Amino acid sequence: MEPIIKGDSALVVFSGGQDSTTCLFWALKHFKSVRTITFGYGQKHSAEIECAKAIAAKAGVDFHYMDVSFISQLGRNSLTDTTMEMDQTKPQDNFPNTFVPGRNLFFLSIAAVYARELGIRDLVTGVSQTDFSGYPDCRDSFIKSLNVTLNLAMDEQFVIHTPLMWINKAQTWEMADHLGVLDLVRNETLTCYNGVKGDGCGHCPACKLRSAGLETYLTSKDS
Ligand code: ZN
Repeated sequence: MEPIIKGDSALVVFSGGQDSTTCLFWALKHFKSVRTITFGYGQKHSAEIECAKAIAAKAGVDFHYMDVSFISQLGRNSLTDTTMEMDQTKPQDNFPNTFVPGRNLFFLSIAAVYARELGIRDLVTGVSQTDFSGYPDCRDSFIKSLNVTLNLAMDEQFVIHTPLMWINKAQTWEMADHLGVLDLVRNETLTCYNGVKGDGCGHCPACKLRSAGLETYLTSKDS
């Protein structure tokens, strides 16, 4: 079912990875005007930001970079701390240490303030509850709660769109294919925790999730 969208413009929280790139092209299909905001949070692989910039240019949308590297000083995680070894699997009863506490809270809050300044009401984020590694800030309940909070905080009517919330990685590939950007997402995005573009390093948890989803999708398409 196509979502009912009343706004003309959307701001996409954009990392240059598979999910947010798919969301960018989803937004381009549903909104007349689309802009992106990309955050530098002290991630080890700044190649991510370069990918985001290049994809935004290709898509012909405005790219806005914002440095929020203070986030890495607030809590330890293996995406920003070079001395920490990355969890390869999800520990029992806990999140993997790739969890960046507060990341989506800060990103979406900052994006909303920026969107308000631009007169944009619709925000788009690529979080998904289906494949989440236990990250609480990818859950639908958090997004809905934050949406209410942002509206109360600024007396606005923001709508946070989460096109990937209830679909898995294979279905995210399917969406990219239907949007006509399967190859672009496959070759130009960076999801890998080791900073390798496209199909990535092949062995980190992000690469495994991404390639398993792609394989499932391509197999189902062929059959
Ligand atoms: Zn990888």
